[in-house]
Amino acid sequence: MTNPGQPARPDVRMRGFAQRAQVTEIWQWLRTHVHALPAESVATVGAAGRVLAEEIVSQVAVPSFPRAMMDGYAVRASETSGASPYSPLPLEVVDEALAGRPARESVQPGQAIRSMTGALLPPGADAVVPVEYVREERADGKVWVLAELTPGKHVAQAGDDVAVGQHVLPGGRRLRPQDLGVLVSLGITQVSVVRQPVVRIVVTGDELVPPGATPREAQIVDSNSPMLVALVQRDGGIVRHPGIVRDDPPAILAALEDNADAVLVSGGSSVGQEDHAPRLVATHGQLVFHGVAMRPSSPAGLGRLGDRLVVLLPGNPVSCLCAYDFFAGRAIRLLGGRAWDWPYRPCRRRLRHKLVSTVGRVDYARVRLVEEEIEPLAISGASILSSTTRADGFVVVPEDSEGYAAGTEVDLYLYDD
Ligand code: AMP
Ligand code: MG
Repeated sequence: MTNPGQPARPDVRMRGFAQRAQVTEIWQWLRTHVHALPAESVATVGAAGRVLAEEIVSQVAVPSFPRAMMDGYAVRASETSGASPYSPLPLEVVDEALAGRPARESVQPGQAIRSMTGALLPPGADAVVPVEYVREERADGKVWVLAELTPGKHVAQAGDDVAVGQHVLPGGRRLRPQDLGVLVSLGITQVSVVRQPVVRIVVTGDELVPPGATPREAQIVDSNSPMLVALVQRDGGIVRHPGIVRDDPPAILAALEDNADAVLVSGGSSVGQEDHAPRLVATHGQLVFHGVAMRPSSPAGLGRLGDRLVVLLPGNPVSCLCAYDFFAGRAIRLLGGRAWDWPYRPCRRRLRHKLVSTVGRVDYARVRLVEEEIEPLAISGASILSSTTRADGFVVVPEDSEGYAAGTEVDLYLYDD
């Protein structure tokens, strides 16, 4: 058992993991210890996707005045009783109301005012006859109403859209584009939203060259950086990633001490000779978990350094992706006030072939959909990033399962929407 209170840990380099934490144990820790960051005020315009830090209750009515909802004529509904194509009602057109340009006159008995959609309903009127239901005789300034109207017909009353005191949006809401429209119509031009976590990415490895560079002998291109940057952005984090860090303890420590809300370390998270990050976190902060009962990603870890959350991601690209999604992504979303759940759509499908797993650890199986059935592609092969590109998604086999027989229905998480 991993003891979350334990401050320092023995140096495990070249000795292997004594125990591994269960995925659920780490999830429990994250849910208990990681909370939404404080709120900040931002302009409503441009706040789509941000997470509201407080409930929005309207102080005003929208619309603030009764409005015509059709192009037609503002009338007194009671006068139209009995009007039909066989018995048209003549009314005198005394004025005109356009959107943003109210009429000067009011509607007296026997009168109508030409009113366009969005115009202030003239005083005296209580309904609008759409142009389709009139016959206008322009020469004598009369209009002939061909239908009966009930009061309020084709009129938006003040507060029809939003009433004073209405609970408009709940706290925790990720603002949709249309939410911004409602907010500004309520006069709310600044909103209180959860601050976005600043996430420092620390990609370590003496063998790595940056994307675009040509690797020489024994070098490889750093494929984790673009993936991690995109993942952090997807989860609402602000990325800070100044470049590859060598497998050098002072350089890694300096990166770990970046003033960010979370630090993700890629590579050097295991028990090899050049795996410095776990020992640095244990020495200068608190290494809460190191080693996880899952495949891939077993050399992942989690800790704290000052106020920062540190997630140690294995360098193998599939492990890096998997450990990010299991732990780092969830933590970043919690910091930003977002949903705990994966942003992958789950669906239930039958397995085409059996899916073998080992009791005692979680397996992250990359799978493909073939004729709406799940075909397992890979469980092992932590370095084969293209397995995640060939896959449509993944199936998580829990630690208490030996896997599933062909034909079993299981949950599949789709990488694409
Ligand atoms: P490590 O976790 O540092 O022991 O690395 C495990 C394996 O992943 C090694 O084969 C590394 O070369 C490889 N690796 C580490 N970091 C990266 C990276 N950023 N991009 C691609 N492969 C990596
Ligand atoms: Mg390494």
